[in-house]
Amino acid sequence: MMTNTEVLLQLKNLKKYFEFNKGLFGQNKTVLKAVDDVSLEIKKGETLGLVGESGCGKSTLGRTIIKLYDVTGGKIIYDGEDITGLNDREMLPYRKKLQMIFQDPYASLNSRMTVGDIIGEPLDIHGIASGSERKEIIHDLLNKVGLTSEHANRYPHEFSGGQRQRIGIARALAVKPDFIVCDEPISALDVSIQAQVVNLLEDLQEEMGLTYLFIAHDLSMVRHISDRVGVMYLGRLVELAASDELYDKPLHPYTKALLSAVPIPDPKLAGQKKRIILKGDVPSPINPPSGCRFRTRCRFAEEICREAVPEFKEAEPGRFAACHLVDKIN
Ligand code: SF4
Repeated sequence: MMTNTEVLLQLKNLKKYFEFNKGLFGQNKTVLKAVDDVSLEIKKGETLGLVGESGCGKSTLGRTIIKLYDVTGGKIIYDGEDITGLNDREMLPYRKKLQMIFQDPYASLNSRMTVGDIIGEPLDIHGIASGSERKEIIHDLLNKVGLTSEHANRYPHEFSGGQRQRIGIARALAVKPDFIVCDEPISALDVSIQAQVVNLLEDLQEEMGLTYLFIAHDLSMVRHISDRVGVMYLGRLVELAASDELYDKPLHPYTKALLSAVPIPDPKLAGQKKRIILKGDVPSPINPPSGCRFRTRCRFAEEICREAVPEFKEAEPGRFAACHLVDKIN
């Protein structure tokens, strides 16, 4: 968990739009605004959780940060350097610092390669080590993630889901990154295995001083691992706060609804909790509602919500929300 106040990553009005052509002859251009005007900071050694319903843009945001996608607008500042417009060659040193762990460990590992070669591939790409040194690093990494050196000669299909995620983590760690986007790393795993992987990520963070962006839809797990949590809706950040503050007293109507649906293990407390049912489906990011994008499902919506986009601003010290009526409803 975080002890540093130095900013490692800063996003300024980040946008990622996807354009595609519709119509028989592709004459109609359609724009999908997957990430639209997101600004935030992540401090060194911090875990920032990112939650929201599927399709809200959280995974696209993660991928855009590590430049798997071109940026449509805004800036990504990494350790004081603007990396937004860097080309592939200029990005190479940053590829080592910024890594990603994927949701589906099986799909993200090449089934024809041995585990040793999967973990060793980034070492080859970046010319970090060869021969016996390479082998030693691979064995160390396997031990670090709770596997053994004998696993290096096996293939991904010989492992369980949890073990495969450990291989994915070892691969991400091979280049000694500072920052890792964890894109729903436990969603595909059995509940019994999820806590083990989260604990491993926490231990590695402590040992290696890592900074995480932890994307998930399991809100309870995000609370456990995150220092602060951001909530996304239809490509925009709607709330950002310290983890406990957000869970104990959400300010934004969308966060209130999301958290009301999280099961509480204590049956007595669960009985007292009122679930807020969200009306309707998430609107299309191709044609989002005017003003506040949440207004079509918000029980507090007023005329202003249709007319103006709410600014994402500090609502209480250290807490940010994008809602015109944040003071009135809290
Ligand atoms: Fe609801 Fe209006 Fe706030 Fe949007 S701005 S969350 S519609 S009250």
